[in-house]
Amino acid sequence: MIGPFTHQALPMRAVFGAGSLARLPEEVAALGMTRVVVLCTPGQEATGRAVAAGLGERAAGVVAEARMHVPVEVARRATTRVAELGADGCVAVGGGSAIGLGKAVALADGPPLVAVPTTYAGSEMTPVWGLTEGGRKRTGRDPRVLPRTVVYDAELTLGLSASTSVVSGLNAIAHAVEGLYAPDTTPLVSLMAAEGVRALVAALPRVVADGTDRDARAGAQYGAWLCGAVLGATTMSLHHRLCHVLGGALDLPHGPTHAVVLPHALAYNGPAAAEAVRALGGALGGVDDPARELWELAGRLGAPRSLAELGMAADDVPRIAELAVSGGGANPRPVTRDGVERLLRAAWAGAPPSAPEGSPAATRR
Ligand code: NAD
Repeated sequence: MIGPFTHQALPMRAVFGAGSLARLPEEVAALGMTRVVVLCTPGQEATGRAVAAGLGERAAGVVAEARMHVPVEVARRATTRVAELGADGCVAVGGGSAIGLGKAVALADGPPLVAVPTTYAGSEMTPVWGLTEGGRKRTGRDPRVLPRTVVYDAELTLGLSASTSVVSGLNAIAHAVEGLYAPDTTPLVSLMAAEGVRALVAALPRVVADGTDRDARAGAQYGAWLCGAVLGATTMSLHHRLCHVLGGALDLPHGPTHAVVLPHALAYNGPAAAEAVRALGGALGGVDDPARELWELAGRLGAPRSLAELGMAADDVPRIAELAVSGGGANPRPVTRDGVERLLRAAWAGAPPSAPEGSPAATRR
């Protein structure tokens, strides 16, 4: 049965396909942009410069200073530079860090953003911004930061390492998982989430086997697009909150943290999210325990499976649990201090995910 829902579509334009970077100049021109600054990380400066060269006389400069989690001082410097260059648009080339910088510039009344994503993290499809100051990451939603146009060109992802491909792909799958049991999920979101998961689980093993497999890269990017759109359309729950707290308080790396926590967060919420579990089981190839399957998949793909290997100390578990519980927010199951501690201890140790004590799934064990 289809229950009541409200679906708010975002004004997003996606140009998809290998070689579509060649269409960037016409896309920028169609938005009326005449002086564009390219934003990227220091590691992708050569790519950023190549993109600027392709923009010809519309390119006003390159700012290769993007950093993970958008430190507020980096955002301020980039905003000033973009204004000095007289830009009327920015093009962010890269993963969530470069796109996050473009969003921060737009949020500070800078020019609008075009995104050319080169990972699978999905930021390009959302109006969500993040800024880090004094060790705390703040996030929010603002329509001004949503990229006006997104150009997906799989050619730009051929050099993304297997390890970063896998963890950013699992980050994308996490958006789909939490979108499926979000309080504001809709039938369209569910379709996008299931299809996004299907595309990513089919593509990632092939990407790991051969990073230059263009079909596999396009499949992963297609999945990332869908999962990013799910993130943009819904409210995230315990999994994203835990990763946010772990990133902010302990500076754990974004993608690997998502890879480790996801199976445990899904196992925690599964008993209260039967429809999501069913949809995920189908998307993962007809399994009845999608949390366990995601944990196995992470292992097969060589992703980290324990928070210990990411540098978290066992002693940090109570503090992180406290921060996650006190943060409030949406979740299909009540978020209890004990439950979250148990979840974190399993994730810390790299143990397989298990259903919460007292749930029907746990009783069947
Ligand atoms: P990232 O952007 O930090 O990229 C990881 C590394 O890979 C960087 O060093 C980058 O230079 C390099 N890289 C990126 N693409 C490459 C390519 N094709 N070839 C070679 N190297 C490449 O990592 P990410 O996982 O994409 O993004 C993580 C950040 O994005 C976090 O700060 C996270 O909070 C944010 N994020 C935000 C949203 C949102 O909706 N606001 C969604 C997802 C992630």
